[in-house]
Amino acid sequence: MTEAADVLVVGAGLAGLTAARDLAAAGRSVLVLEARDRVGGRVVNADIGGGKIVEMGGEYAGPTQDRVLAAAADLGIATFPTYDDGRKVLHFNGTRGTYTGGIPRLSPLTLADIAQAQARLESLAKKVPTAAPWTAPNAGKLDSQTFETWIRRSARTNGGRKLLALGAEAVFAAEPAELSMLHVLFYSHAGGSFQRLIETTGGAQQDRFVGGSALIAERLAARLGDKVRLGAPVSRIEVRGDRVIAATPRGQFEGRRIIVSVPPHLAGRIEYDPVLPAVREQLTQRAPMGSVIKCQVIYDEPFWRRDGLSGQATGDGEGSRVVFDNSPPDGSPGVLLAFVEGDEARKLGSMSLDDRRRAVVDSMARYFGPRGGRPEDYLELDWRQERWSGGCYGTLFGPSVLTRYGQALRAPVGQVHWAGTETATEWAGYMDGAVRSGERAAAEVLAALGG
Ligand SMILES: Cc1cc2nc3c(=O)[nH]c(=O)nc-3n(C[C@H](O)[C@H](O)[C@H](O)COP(=O)(O)OP(=O)(O)OC[C@H]3O[C@@H](n4cnc5c(N)ncnc54)[C@H](O)[C@@H]3O)c2cc1C
Repeated sequence: MTEAADVLVVGAGLAGLTAARDLAAAGRSVLVLEARDRVGGRVVNADIGGGKIVEMGGEYAGPTQDRVLAAAADLGIATFPTYDDGRKVLHFNGTRGTYTGGIPRLSPLTLADIAQAQARLESLAKKVPTAAPWTAPNAGKLDSQTFETWIRRSARTNGGRKLLALGAEAVFAAEPAELSMLHVLFYSHAGGSFQRLIETTGGAQQDRFVGGSALIAERLAARLGDKVRLGAPVSRIEVRGDRVIAATPRGQFEGRRIIVSVPPHLAGRIEYDPVLPAVREQLTQRAPMGSVIKCQVIYDEPFWRRDGLSGQATGDGEGSRVVFDNSPPDGSPGVLLAFVEGDEARKLGSMSLDDRRRAVVDSMARYFGPRGGRPEDYLELDWRQERWSGGCYGTLFGPSVLTRYGQALRAPVGQVHWAGTETATEWAGYMDGAVRSGERAAAEVLAALGG
């Protein structure tokens, strides 16, 4: 039996659910087909007991992320500030130091070096049009080099180079050598600036959602009711005249339009009939995901706060290199969120769970003292192993992709439309970008269907 609706949506992440919300609100019938047995995609909560949760995927929101904040507010979900009081820790070149504000205690030469390199990056980023990065001044030149090449040319000190690389790991869950410079500039501009991407207060990590970001997806899905079908991975999309047919193990679904809201590399695994234009097919061959293991190290209380520490730490040693205080709003239990990213994710990801946990916990002791080495509990999610994500936080474009294939990222192919955070022109890669992309795709489809 084939079920029918005006519009089919592939994927019940924030993008797909937002698109479905807008289509349903406009009076169109819609069916959302989701591969997993849950909604939310790259946002998911984990229960830590006592009615408390931690987020294992997307978590933070900040200034100018207006669309995800509006979606949450509309669903009755409040925000609270990320804990950001006290000194931060930097463990660098074997030495631990603490600092307040945004500037760590490093040699004046290293600090000046980073400042001038970052100023150049910010100025280049501003010139990249986020709706068409390939039209930026010198786009070809910028897209033919990696962020690593650029850092080596633009920073003069070893310390400056290492810290810029740490920044890249934190923002992209990747090494600078994996990223096209044009992609880094596009991504920074889409979020306002590179500085905004790395900041807590005033930046992308400023706020958290009470009850967890997954509530946004869960409540959107609850409003859609039986329009959302779980356990329904779409394996084939067939366009026949004015109908689009999606095949899943739960049967066939038919619509007039389809919105594919999955990351580009997963969109590329769907079979299309007729085949997609070469530029779209080859774009999805060149769209790998970042590498991140998100770890939560749980203590009976946030002991670091009493030591005057914010719980934020950065370092260049083994284990986690980016840490936040991730305790629930009432500060109990104490939770340190430890990101393991890029090469470190590849290295630790190949260890046994016990060895990896030991490496992560040891890094907490390095940052926060011996008590950091004695957690009550430990949780982790290796996003590279998630079949329906393939990595996180998002897609990384290497050299020569945006200029040669970027135009196919968002352009509909007949009745097939594309959404997902990767297609956003603001806050691409973030939850806000996902919501914006869903809104844009729904508007596109409504216009095509005549409102
Ligand atoms: C560890 C981690 C930390 C992050 N931190 C932040 C953060 O602090 N702030 C922030 O803003 N963002 C963060 N992000 C990124 C953010 O979570 C994503 O940008 C956003 O959730 C993407 O939403 P989406 O709807 O575009 O894609 P997805 O969430 O990937 O949704 C796609 C959906 O499609 C489904 N699917 C895939 N293939 C198929 C198929 N063939 N058929 C049917 N369904 C399919 C998937 O299961 C999924 O549910 C983080 C992500 C991770 C993983």
